[in-house]
Amino acid sequence: MTDMSSTPFSLEGKTALVTGGSRGIGKTIALDLADAGADVIITYARSGEAAEQVVREIVKKGRKGKAVKADAVAFAEAENVVSMALEEFGGIDILVNNAGITRDTLILRMSEEQWDEVIHTNLKSVFNYSKAVMKPMMKKRAGSIINISSIVGRAGNAGQTNYAASKAGIIGFTKALAKEVASRNIRVNTVAPGYIETEMTEKLDKKVLQAIEENIPLGRAGKSEEVAHTVRFLAGDGSSYITGALFAVDGGMGM
Ligand code: NAP
Repeated sequence: MTDMSSTPFSLEGKTALVTGGSRGIGKTIALDLADAGADVIITYARSGEAAEQVVREIVKKGRKGKAVKADAVAFAEAENVVSMALEEFGGIDILVNNAGITRDTLILRMSEEQWDEVIHTNLKSVFNYSKAVMKPMMKKRAGSIINISSIVGRAGNAGQTNYAASKAGIIGFTKALAKEVASRNIRVNTVAPGYIETEMTEKLDKKVLQAIEENIPLGRAGKSEEVAHTVRFLAGDGSSYITGALFAVDGGMGM
């Protein structure tokens, strides 16, 4: 681990909240923010044991950590998580809206439930947590919100109308909120990963995966650490003049 405590990239003294931090990209983001010096709260939906393991790793790094079971779809649960953070951690400096799901199918087969589930989990959750942290961040006149979108939100993808709509929605939400709260020194940015190796992408057919990799200029799938490093940069003062921006972490796929 590099010592960054005296650089603008250090997150020492800051508290981060990562939704969906029990697995995949969210887990890597949580651990990476802890490496940079932040105390980290993670939320999860089902994976209690995996989430507690992430907390143990955060604590091993010498940081404070906590896992909270909270359905990202529910606004009241987001408010409870933020209240707990204010009481037990003294505030929230960094919010990473990462929780997300896919329910892929062609539109003729897509049920209303599959549409609603994806829009609520991926997009409404971003509203829920951004709204819940807003008063404390405004009071502090500081904050960094990082929303995890996807290349699919920019380019579309057959079989993912629900997912693409949710991820495109995040991009618009980010820009609108960035304009709304810039005067309070709260920055809001989007990170749009391309194809990253996680459990979410393990579900994809091998032939589909090969075809995807052939279309990536850097010639390979991304790693969750590569997304986390971008989030870490946007979280801290090293990115103090960046807001409303979209960072594609996609090996050049979206060009
Ligand atoms: P993943 O491995 O499936 O992990 C998803 C995480 O979200 C888990 O921690 C899960 O918690 C949590 N979650 C799901 N539904 C939730 C809910 N209702 N409330 C609270 N937490 C919930 O997914 P991933 O691949 O790491 O993806 C993370 C983010 O990156 C998503 O927003 C995804 O759309 C985006 N993304 C991923 C890729 C990729 O290639 N993997 C590419 C572009 C964008 P439980 O463990 O409790 O279920």
